[in-house]
Amino acid sequence: MTGTAVPLPRNRFPSVGEILESASAGTAIERFGRQATVSAVRALVLEFKERQMTPCSALEFGEKAFAKLEAGANPHMKPVFNLTGVILHTNLGRAILAEEAISAAIKAMRMAVTLEFDLGTGERGERDDHLRDLVCELTGAEDATVVNNNAAALLLVLNAIARGKESVVSRGELIEIGGAFRLPEIMNKASTKLKEVGTTNRTHSKDYVAATNPRTALFLKVHTSNYVIKGFTRQVSTHELAVIAKQAGLPLVCDLGSGTLIDLERFGLAHETTVTETLKAGADLVTFSGDKLLGGPQAGFIVGRRSLIEKINRNPMKRAMRIDKIRMAALEATLQIYRNPNRIVGQIPTYRFLSRPLDNIRTAAERVTAAISPALRQLFKIEVTGCESEIGSGSLPLEKISSAGIAFRSPTKRGGKQLQRLAAALRNLPVPVVGRICSNALVLDMRCLEDEAGFISNFSHVDLTGLES
Ligand SMILES: *Cc1c(COP(=O)(O)O)cnc(C)c1O
Repeated sequence: MTGTAVPLPRNRFPSVGEILESASAGTAIERFGRQATVSAVRALVLEFKERQMTPCSALEFGEKAFAKLEAGANPHMKPVFNLTGVILHTNLGRAILAEEAISAAIKAMRMAVTLEFDLGTGERGERDDHLRDLVCELTGAEDATVVNNNAAALLLVLNAIARGKESVVSRGELIEIGGAFRLPEIMNKASTKLKEVGTTNRTHSKDYVAATNPRTALFLKVHTSNYVIKGFTRQVSTHELAVIAKQAGLPLVCDLGSGTLIDLERFGLAHETTVTETLKAGADLVTFSGDKLLGGPQAGFIVGRRSLIEKINRNPMKRAMRIDKIRMAALEATLQIYRNPNRIVGQIPTYRFLSRPLDNIRTAAERVTAAISPALRQLFKIEVTGCESEIGSGSLPLEKISSAGIAFRSPTKRGGKQLQRLAAALRNLPVPVVGRICSNALVLDMRCLEDEAGFISNFSHVDLTGLES
């Protein structure tokens, strides 16, 4: 039996059984299972009754239940257009991977791989073998290992080398990074005692020397990723600290945070000490992220002296922090790109975005602006505007990169609410669009937009209801 040909008398609800026998409910049962469909139908009928709505036919109830189940089956984590101007946006998943990395990850998902298998001997291999040589080649390190993320890398290094002893760090470097990553708490969890030296603005070599005692295990230097201390300041350089560490016979660990393998000056940015330079300056171990400036998947690298890496690898915590085959494949493919510096800008999206010429961004903004519907133009003042992008994820926090975008302004003086409603409507698009509101405008920075045609057709679906000023 399908649906109801005879119109139902008002206020008569079809029974759950009747609804379940409708064609539409049948499709729902096939796709989502009987139990889920029954729950959806019951909830729907209950909602109609509670809100005293006029009942519809069994077929229509079935259709509504199907639509509800389908909406619930959509992925909760959705792809979005990141037009915030923040290239590495932590809340939007940081780096976008290179095509080579994506293909490698897909292959690793689809097939068995030699994750811990040595094809030469046919025996058990080591997970780290896939990356060690590459990382050492690219950084000049003696040895390397990789874990879940940089936070894990730091926790592991501290626990493996400084457990039950003291770790010396400058007060000016006691960072907090988003998501409750606070250095003093990480040290506590790693069971090492934080020995702060210097003051917030000034730390001298003699402070480190004076703090050294028989309980000292290591010196730690942390990249102040998301802030800058300006004015009357003094920090001890990696090289100076390496000399002190050497004299004390103790290792120097540098947490570089983002950690770059290449010189950012070629993109017109300030110089950011590379991993290689940090090792050359005398660091014994360097830790850095996989999904910040490196442009790969989430991961944490630990590179440096072999005896220390071996000690780290023997720590049982390492097992709890290892990366899986999918990320291993993506990381290996990403690092392969770095072997030929000419390919970096073309292949690694982070650097492609970073080096995109301003005129190119501006003409994209003009093309996209021209394609915006007249209906939306009636509601907002829309124009191409200059704006500033940033790298994000604590990489060069003060560097602003000239960019171009589309500004939406309210025609009324106090149009803040209207802009908020527009921002919400854009987040509601089939592919949500995330911009940023600043100085009374909603700005969509075009730097990271590559799929212009996809963006334009997606944008034609903006729901205009309630957007009037
Ligand atoms: C970002 C950052 C971390 C944390 O790295 P994740 O890869 O996000 O775990 C640690 N230290 C510094 C200095 C950072 O900038």
